[in-house]
Amino acid sequence: MRLTLAGLVAVAAFAQQPGAVLIITDAEGVAGVCRQQQVEQGNAEMQRLLTGEINASVRGFLKAGAQQVVVWDGHGGSWTLTAQTIHDQARLITGSLGSKMLMDSGRFAAVAFVGQHARANRERAVMAHSYSSLGIQKLTMNGAEVGEIETRAALAGAFNVPVIFLSGDRAAAEDLHAIVPEAEAAVVKDGISYYACESMSAAAAQALIEQKAEAAWRKLARIKPYKVNGPVAIEMELTTRSTPSPDAVLGEGVERIGPRTLRFRGKDFLEAWTRWNGR
Ligand SMILES: [Zn+2]
Repeated sequence: MRLTLAGLVAVAAFAQQPGAVLIITDAEGVAGVCRQQQVEQGNAEMQRLLTGEINASVRGFLKAGAQQVVVWDGHGGSWTLTAQTIHDQARLITGSLGSKMLMDSGRFAAVAFVGQHARANRERAVMAHSYSSLGIQKLTMNGAEVGEIETRAALAGAFNVPVIFLSGDRAAAEDLHAIVPEAEAAVVKDGISYYACESMSAAAAQALIEQKAEAAWRKLARIKPYKVNGPVAIEMELTTRSTPSPDAVLGEGVERIGPRTLRFRGKDFLEAWTRWNGR
């Protein structure tokens, strides 16, 4: 195929549109956050620390040329952030994003994680879990253990959107780099155990996050979306308290494969994913 100069300019302009980034926030990966009490709803210290990190990433993305930064309050049912303290040029989403997390809107050029933790069953990972520390013991996708990082990266990837940035503990950064090696990561703490960590100061973490977020947006075109091709099976080992009763009616493509384990099958990632979230 021969491209004219005008065609190349048009392709380049299209590649830069849309210029919005969706920041998915969590609490367990924030610098200085290491204990269960800190991630409970209404913990003022955590709210300040997380907001400081989010706003640092917003500054970095805007400095690098992002046209819009949208922040989703992703921790604990979306009760953590407030429009009073979020960066004045960011937009804040509160509440559920639905199973496709707005990825089907065509609005976002990139996804970023701030305050992210690693998947369940990781060692030396602060409060590592997959979606629910109370409800889910283990989550796998096509046999490999996964958590929020891998499944949300796959969801974004299904719509050709790359994950470009993560801040969190070292284990979370490793989880992302295993599937998106080009992504920028700000490692703000090292897990010693589930509830013990060695952390940067808030000021140092925020400076690092701003710098890495800026670098991530500048290399956006070189970061590949994470694609999970072919049929997908998501298996979920539940805790005793969250296991449906034996006579519960399961949806299409959902089967019980063990006393506490459900499997969601789909012809592709999106189908398997929405079967879980559609429950
Ligand atoms: Zn989480």
